[in-house]
Amino acid sequence: MTRLLVTRHLPDDVLNAIPDAFDVTVRENQTPMDCTEAAQALQTYDAILPTLGDDFGAETFRTPDITCRILANFGVGYNHIDVAAAEQAGVAVTNTPGAVTDATADIALTLMLMSCRRAGEGERLVRAGEWSGWHPTQMLGLHMSGKVLGIIGMGRIGQAIAKRAHLGFGMQVVFFNRSPKPDAIGQQMAEIDDVLKKADIVVIAVPATPETHHLISAAQLAAMKPTGHLINVARGDIVDQSALITALKTGQIAGAGLDVYEFEPEVPDDLRQMENVVLLPHLGTAALEVRIQMGLMAVENLAAYLAGDPLPNKVFP
Ligand code: NAP
Repeated sequence: MTRLLVTRHLPDDVLNAIPDAFDVTVRENQTPMDCTEAAQALQTYDAILPTLGDDFGAETFRTPDITCRILANFGVGYNHIDVAAAEQAGVAVTNTPGAVTDATADIALTLMLMSCRRAGEGERLVRAGEWSGWHPTQMLGLHMSGKVLGIIGMGRIGQAIAKRAHLGFGMQVVFFNRSPKPDAIGQQMAEIDDVLKKADIVVIAVPATPETHHLISAAQLAAMKPTGHLINVARGDIVDQSALITALKTGQIAGAGLDVYEFEPEVPDDLRQMENVVLLPHLGTAALEVRIQMGLMAVENLAAYLAGDPLPNKVFP
């Protein structure tokens, strides 16, 4: 039997789809594995289905006697796995692209609307019993329709956001991306600053990599409009969180909508206390059918490994 560790509880539809040839252990702890536990798992199992936050950094692959040959990640983002170190240790890595795209784009639109229209603040007002009634100048926000949307990272999720914003809200789209995207909705800009200066709302949709770490820092926030909103649905460390807090406190930008945090799940008091920040607990893909699709994709990768077939969603360093 091929020993498989599933590092978090997954929907039954996913667990039931795992081929019988696997001897499955489901880790009951819902918190991420630290590097010590991850290293032990690499020595104990033949295959692992890990997910967000499980610490498969470079040092875990320096552990002796690794038996694991595949990390079939549940999720498209795999910044918690050092793919180069894994490959060197003979461990293949796969992910679940596509399954997450629409749901994550939907959460980006949720955050855009909530941030622009002060929805979090308004909800808190009502819940606190402090709403005194409608009046013409109450809680005026930014009208999102027809504004300029700047997207950083025009991949699957970036393009799904562009489609919703342009076709649904009549927004003009400008974007920054590493490689040319001639077929994407909107105008590609040569420099990230060109996007930041022009956009009323900026959405981050690049993966977390060494190159994108703090891609949005104090200088980039300073380039944004003072009426601008920053939305991050990608990964927390792409934005320098303390620079973001300063920019929000000093009115350098108008608001932010965050699904991810630099030191997740820690969310600084400063962010939690600001009215002009919308904070979601990493909800990008949090819908049962999406999580099932992600899981089934991870299982397909495991089944291909078992059969000795090419891995459908192998990722490369
Ligand atoms: P994708 O299709 O691979 O798109 C990423 C895009 O970013 C690509 O177009 C890529 O350009 C571009 N890019 C990469 N590095 C760049 C750089 N240094 N500068 C500029 N552009 C760069 O990935 P995706 O499926 O859209 O997912 C994007 C990320 O979203 C994931 O990596 C994940 O971390 C995050 N995510 C978050 C959630 C959530 O729950 N909040 C859910 C799903 C995904 P090229 O065309 O040159 O490759």
